[in-house]
Amino acid sequence: MTSSAAIDALDVTSATSATSATSATGATGVTGARRGERRWARAGALVGALALAGALGGCGGCPREACGAARPAALPAAPPLPPPPLPPPSRPPLEVRGGEHLAGLHPALERRARLLYERAEEEGVQLRFISGYRPYQLKAGGRRAGRGGAAGAVASWHNFGLAFDVNLQGRAGLGDALKHLREDEARWARVGALAADLGLTWGKQWGQEEIFHFEWHPGQPDAIRAPTLNALKASAEGGDLRAGYRGAWRALQSREGAGDRAEEVSR
Ligand SMILES: [Zn+2]
Repeated sequence: MTSSAAIDALDVTSATSATSATSATGATGVTGARRGERRWARAGALVGALALAGALGGCGGCPREACGAARPAALPAAPPLPPPPLPPPSRPPLEVRGGEHLAGLHPALERRARLLYERAEEEGVQLRFISGYRPYQLKAGGRRAGRGGAAGAVASWHNFGLAFDVNLQGRAGLGDALKHLREDEARWARVGALAADLGLTWGKQWGQEEIFHFEWHPGQPDAIRAPTLNALKASAEGGDLRAGYRGAWRALQSREGAGDRAEEVSR
């Protein structure tokens, strides 16, 4: 094969596989240019015929046979899309000071507690969790005493894993924190604002001694008075406000749907 015949053969083969490659290696008496013209003309006629066949019976964009091979008669139904995942943590979880107090909290509140901690940390306000779930206890006289909740309450949202307390890192305890309240005012104000963004209720509205307290109970009142307590007790598994307290979470308005993911826990 001469070099021009070889190039001619390559051109024709690449133009259309319907043209015989063996004929391209034929007589050398005709110039490569002329053979090329004839074969391009044959290729063009073939392409035109295929396009006409497609226009008559195919999809209009390609020949009928190719359509039949590539497009099944009925496409299978697409599987339903999975629900959007929760946003992944922006980084490995921080080692949380007092993190043991988060055990027993409602998962949605625990997530908010961790976000509060992280966001405060980003602003240079270091926190320490000092309380979380606390078992329900009836005091003498049938009324629950102790801190943590709105005035007049007979139980605390702590008893249902729906409240936590924090202190500023470096303050030795509640007394020390209250003693330095004026000095720490700006830092507490930031913590309160961040908590509000997360949908938490801040106890400071009930007095400075509740500045450590945050709670979350969508659809329920701040103060657990007798009717609320009875409803929570009825929701608790086995009516047990201690071992079965998680059952009371059913009394909450569900915020674990799209809204919770999209607007409240977004980073
Ligand atoms: Zn509290």
